[in-house]
This record gives sequence, structure tokens and C-alpha cells, in this order.
Amino acid sequence: MNMVTVIGAGPAGLVTARKCQELGWKTSVLEEHDVIGKPVNCTGIISASGVEDVGIRKEVEETLMNKIRGAQIYSPNHEMIEVKKSSTVAYVIDRGGFDRVLAREATEAGVEIHLNTKMIDIRNETIFTEQKGRGGLQKSKLIVGADGVNSKTRSLMGFETNITNYVHAYQVVAKGKFDPKYVQIYMGDYSKGFFAWIVPESEERARVGLASTSKNIRKDFNMFVNEKNISGEFCDKCSSLIPVGEPLKNIVQDNMLLVGDSAFQTKATTGGGIILGIEAGKIAANSIDAHFKNNKPLKNYEKNCAELNKELRLHWKIRQFINSKNEDQLDKMFQKMNKAKIGEFLSEHGDMDRPSKFVGKILTKPNMWRLFPEAVKFMRT
Ligand SMILES: Cc1cc2nc3c(=O)[nH]c(=O)nc-3n(C[C@H](O)[C@H](O)[C@H](O)COP(=O)(O)OP(=O)(O)OC[C@H]3O[C@@H](n4cnc5c(N)ncnc54)[C@H](O)[C@@H]3O)c2cc1C
Repeated sequence: MNMVTVIGAGPAGLVTARKCQELGWKTSVLEEHDVIGKPVNCTGIISASGVEDVGIRKEVEETLMNKIRGAQIYSPNHEMIEVKKSSTVAYVIDRGGFDRVLAREATEAGVEIHLNTKMIDIRNETIFTEQKGRGGLQKSKLIVGADGVNSKTRSLMGFETNITNYVHAYQVVAKGKFDPKYVQIYMGDYSKGFFAWIVPESEERARVGLASTSKNIRKDFNMFVNEKNISGEFCDKCSSLIPVGEPLKNIVQDNMLLVGDSAFQTKATTGGGIILGIEAGKIAANSIDAHFKNNKPLKNYEKNCAELNKELRLHWKIRQFINSKNEDQLDKMFQKMNKAKIGEFLSEHGDMDRPSKFVGKILTKPNMWRLFPEAVKFMRT
């Protein structure tokens, strides 16, 4: 019998599995697809600070495609805030390749990865699976649901989520002419409740996409690419949901726990979930170790996620605040922020993953005081 079985070979699951195995607990991963890292539903941009925080520099170097210095963020009527750094702030990675590197490392540590194996049910220590149409059984003391945004483990644990907890994303790889150092973010009609993006892989290729609460994402996407004059060959299309609700509570039940997208450990501001999912995976593995070794309650995983949840809730609060504004109000807010030189402030203090590092600092800078009324409204959301 396994001590730990992880459902899902994405970054959160693979890191949890590797660490559990390294800590001495026999671990398997079940993955429904026949290859790791396919299909790719991701832009693959991660912050340089996050990479250091969760210790994945080696894995990023192996799959690196581009280095990003900053972003141009546009309000619905094209007021632009520019965040520019003299050094790299983020990396664009080959996301499929990245998952395969994590899988290789997990296998080297001794984890068994079962491909083509879909979890269909869990009863106590028994996992029911389907492999190419055939039923199977796995036994495990503990089960980690790392099965992504549409998590079956989460449903089996009794969670009910609704459509307002997600945005729908659509992305292509476009060929054209792009500034390789800067990401562009657009708010507007075509991306209600979220934003559209152009993330360069190089001077010739970019990941172009948008996420929104709209029901017709393809129509929105066409509107966006027409407006931005992006044409030519679109390849590697992807379409998926992104969780943008509050991080879930009660993510440990009996012998099951959730990590990554399945637990809504995704930043509601940007939809990014790689770094914080990996961080959660490490916390989960340490909590599992303390449970097996020292008989500590598995529920401690929830307590151990307190710091992570603080950041995730702040992301969620910022998203609620932005979404409470109409287009006109957003434009005015961008104008005010530009007058307060928010671009310079974010260039110095911004952090893509941990807003607590800069949100508190905003009003300590005299040129930011004109944002005081907005800050008060934000506190009240
Ligand atoms: C368009 C788009 C762009 C994004 N861009 C970024 C970005 O730039 N940066 C960033 O940080 N994040 C981004 N994200 C979010 C990021 O992709 C996710 O947060 C991340 O993949 C979550 O990792 P995970 O390990 O929790 O889940 P996943 O990576 O989704 O892995 C879950 C795995 O579980 C498997 N699985 C599911 N159900 C079962 C089952 N029943 N049995 C067995 N296996 C199962 C799946 O096949 C999958 O391999 C983006 C998301 C989208 C949709």
C-alpha cells in the first residue's frame, strides 16, 4: 500500500509527491493523460522572486524561453501604467517542458507515476481508477487532490463551486513582431471581469489570450486581436477555466487534502497558480510528514497555509475591488494612479505573488496620498 497517492501530475501534485517521497513516504501519482504536460493550458509566466522563494531556479533554467523586464497595463480607454525594471522580473517558460522536468525529478526521487490512469472515485483508503477503459484499484493511506481546476477530488470532498468562482480563458500562440521585454495587459469590453494579455516568447512569437466572465470567449478574443491588429498564424490554442474565488477552507477532510488549483490556490488578480501551487505542495508534504512521523493532525496543513492564504485573500480582495469599478471609474483610477506615479512605485516595490509586500507601503509615500480615497474604498470591499 502507498502511504501517499497524489491525483494529478501538474506542478502542485508533482512537487507534493516528490517531497513526500524524499521525506520517506512511499508515494504515487495518478495522471489521466498519457503524457505529462499536455495539453498546456497556461501562459507560463512566473515571477523571478517566486522562482527563488520556492526554489525552482534549476527547473526554470531548463525550460526558459524569455525574460521579462516589466509590463504595460492599459485601462479600458487606453490610459497606460508602465512598470519597468532594469533587471528580470519574470520568466516565460515552456510550461509542458517544466511539468516534465518536475516529473523526472519526482521519478528520480522514487515516486511512481501512473499515466493514463484517471481517478474516478475514492472510498476511505481505496482509489477507483480507469485505465484505457479498464477499471482498477489503488490503496493509499492518504490522498492528495492535485487534479486542477475541475477537481474530482474536490467534488468528492463535498465542495460545490459555481460559475462566479471562475473566469474562462482562451489563448493562442501568435506569430508577428513583439517587444520581447514587456508584457502587455489590457482591460476592456472584451475581457469583462479580468483582462487580455500579450506575453512575448521572443521577438517573433507571443502568447496572446484573454480571460473573462463572458459566455462567448471566442467572440471576445476575435474582438481583441482585431483591435490590436494581431493576425497571422495562430497555433497551440488552449481554453480552460481559471479559479478566481477565495482560497477554499476545510481543504483537509478525513484522509484527503487539496493542493493547487483544486484548492483555489490561484491568484485572483492574474490567474497565476504555478508558484503558489508549488508553495502549497511543499507545505502539504511537510504537514503530511508531521502527521505520519509525529502523529500531528493532518488538519494542521490548513493552519500551515495561513501565510499563503493571507496573500491569496489579498489578491482576491484586489480583484473584487477592480471588478466593482465600471470602465469610466477604471480610467479615472488609472489617471489618478499615474499622477501619483504608481508605475515608478511598482517598479521599485511591486511583487507579482505577494501583494502584502507593497499594498501596506502605498500610503507611506507622500506622492501616493492622492490615492487615499481609493485606499479607503479598497479597505471597505
Ligand atoms: C490560459 C491560462 C493561462 C495561465 N497562465 C498562467 C501563468 O502565466 N502563470 C501561472 O502561474 N499560472 C497560469 N495559469 C494557471 C496555471 O496553469 C494553474 O494555476 C496551474 O496549472 C495549477 O497547477 P495544478 O498542479 O494545481 O493543476 P494542473 O496543472 O491543472 O494539473 C492537474 C493535473 O491533474 C490531472 N487530472 C485531473 N483530473 C484527474 C483525475 N480524475 N485523475 C487523474 N488525473 C487527473 C490533469 O490531467 C492535470 O495533469 C494559467 C491558466 C490558464 C487557463
